[in-house]
Amino acid sequence: MSKTDLNIFETMESEVRSYCRNFPTVFTQAKGHNMWDEDGKEYIDFFSGAGALNYGHNDEKMKAKLIEYIQNDGITHSLDKATTAKGDFINEFNDVILKPRGLDYKIMFPGPTGTNTVESALKLARKVTGRTDVISFTNGFHGMTIGSLSVTGNSSKRKGAGVPLQHAVTMPYDSFVGEDLTTLEYLEAYLENSGSGVAIPAAMIVETVQGEGGINVASSEWMKKLDDICKRWGILLIIDDVQAGIGRTGSFFSFEEAGIQPDIVCLSKSLSGYGLPFAITLFRPELDIWSPGEHNGTFRGNNHAFVTATAALDYWKDEAFEEGIKERSEMTHEYLEYLVQEYPELKGKVKGRGLMVGISCEEPELASKVAEEAFNRGLIMETAGPNDEVFKLFPAINIEKEALKQGLEIIEESIKATVK
Ligand code: PMP
Repeated sequence: MSKTDLNIFETMESEVRSYCRNFPTVFTQAKGHNMWDEDGKEYIDFFSGAGALNYGHNDEKMKAKLIEYIQNDGITHSLDKATTAKGDFINEFNDVILKPRGLDYKIMFPGPTGTNTVESALKLARKVTGRTDVISFTNGFHGMTIGSLSVTGNSSKRKGAGVPLQHAVTMPYDSFVGEDLTTLEYLEAYLENSGSGVAIPAAMIVETVQGEGGINVASSEWMKKLDDICKRWGILLIIDDVQAGIGRTGSFFSFEEAGIQPDIVCLSKSLSGYGLPFAITLFRPELDIWSPGEHNGTFRGNNHAFVTATAALDYWKDEAFEEGIKERSEMTHEYLEYLVQEYPELKGKVKGRGLMVGISCEEPELASKVAEEAFNRGLIMETAGPNDEVFKLFPAINIEKEALKQGLEIIEESIKATVK
């Protein structure tokens, strides 16, 4: 096969691409925590498909199950007809994930991607409550279709679509609005004005850790209080766990630490375990007031993804798996704390929970520079935050510890090269 001319991307592909510019090479292969390009250069992947590859690339067990399924001419496309692959996934998800956590949810297949699950959650909340407003939070990210974009609290992401849809109300995330007023008090004050024209919302949609928004962590206390406000006002709480879910913060769901049970949960990205497009929306059974066909779509439920997602759930049967994420997380946080101390020129701050971590730099250009230097040294990571001021570490949650250490050392070399 001839080598791919990078110019093809420049001339043929729409200007909308960004990763192509940040990682200017042509990739050919990937395994576990590694990727390789056409020149045979090896990279450690601290990007993990923006959180879609939490178990690394081409997991052997998932691959074997998928090959077996394909070899046996398993159903590929079925719309929402019943298939064995779908049945196995539903059973296993219930037995391995929901039941042990005391969660009782119905599972819906809203369409292939993260934005599809968010759209279905917004629609369902409006239908159930008969209300229209949805509260979301500053710097939150929920997707690129008009509904999910409208509840995305980042104006630069919204700019292409102009103003958000009506009825999307943005509130400050977990921080103080002013000297004496917390965001929750502000929110309550807003709701108390319902008598004077403020509409009680159908739902609030929130990430427990904001990924695209810059790895902003909401405290468990804040999440609990938010949950409490929702209950008192009869507002549905939607947790968008598209990025923070599936082990990224240390547990299967990111909200487990807060001990809450949201009304609706959005999952996608690493759900298939294998990087295949796949999403589900979970909701309390009493909210299931959909009429048949009311939220349909050609690619609702992907049988190949059912197969790999079911295999991925095996990881969660082993109690040591979560412990392993915790160990890797501690190692990472410790190293990052050392880096911000050792390199004060970075004016850095460590952010994150579990293996959803980053360093925010006072001067945003430094974050991009560190990511660029890291890429040159064979480490892939992206930047996040409203000004791209955070370099973001998303290693596989089961990455070999030696590779994790190697990746962290490359970051140190990249910081040295940036601030020297
Ligand atoms: N919600 C969150 C929290 C996300 O991070 C993303 C994607 N970055 C989405 C929704 C949208 O997912 P998708 O890109 O698959 O539509």
